[in-house]
Amino acid sequence: MNSAQWHRMVDAFVEALQRDAAYLDELDAATGDGEHGTTMRRAFEAVKVDLDGAFSRLDSESSFLKAVGTALSKAAGGAAGALYSAFFSAMGQAAGAEQQGDPAARFVVHLDAGVQAVCRLGKAQVGDKTMVDALVPALEAARAASARGAGLGETLDDAAAAARAGMLRTRDMMARRGRASYLGERALGHQDPGATSAYMILDAMRSGFHAGE
Ligand code: ADP
Ligand code: MG
Repeated sequence: MNSAQWHRMVDAFVEALQRDAAYLDELDAATGDGEHGTTMRRAFEAVKVDLDGAFSRLDSESSFLKAVGTALSKAAGGAAGALYSAFFSAMGQAAGAEQQGDPAARFVVHLDAGVQAVCRLGKAQVGDKTMVDALVPALEAARAASARGAGLGETLDDAAAAARAGMLRTRDMMARRGRASYLGERALGHQDPGATSAYMILDAMRSGFHAGE
């Protein structure tokens, strides 16, 4: 991905949040405090304003992704905002390091760094009913796609599809991290809001890429 594609990813995600914030709030109301959509929409609208203003200077993938992380850390965005800030900052760091391979392989390296940062900060594992349940399958699917020689577009498609499947699996999980963990079995049957926004991010990455084809 290049900085223009990441820029379109931010636009696509803000549009998705403007459309679906109420839905995310509803999911969060079932297992948390009911504001995940509203908080994410506000945070990413602020990110978009920052990045639109600075875009001419953010001409590398690394500088753009790091700027997303920094802008998110300034915009109060709840538990998820802090985790997504770490996600984008780590992807930006990875993108700044010397790299080999085709675009799909490089994307896998960046996504891996982002997912690892979320896991390190939040200490959630697969099965804990969090955004990690969408992010880790997305990473695994991206890695598999890249390993079989798929291009970046197909790799992003597979990652988004796997994130969606992981998001749906959170319905059958009890939460072990975040506010939902206080609910025990009462969390069963409810889809995790953070896994849902994580799928939306992966889907926005797809849109950001394909819009420029
Ligand atoms: P809060 O209301 O607790 O500040 P948000 O509503 O912004 O948080 O986000 C809730 C989502 O954040 C959860 O659905 C979950 O996916 C994710 N989350 C919360 N805690 C963690 C954690 N420790 N690790 C990974 N994800 C987490
Ligand atoms: Mg919440």
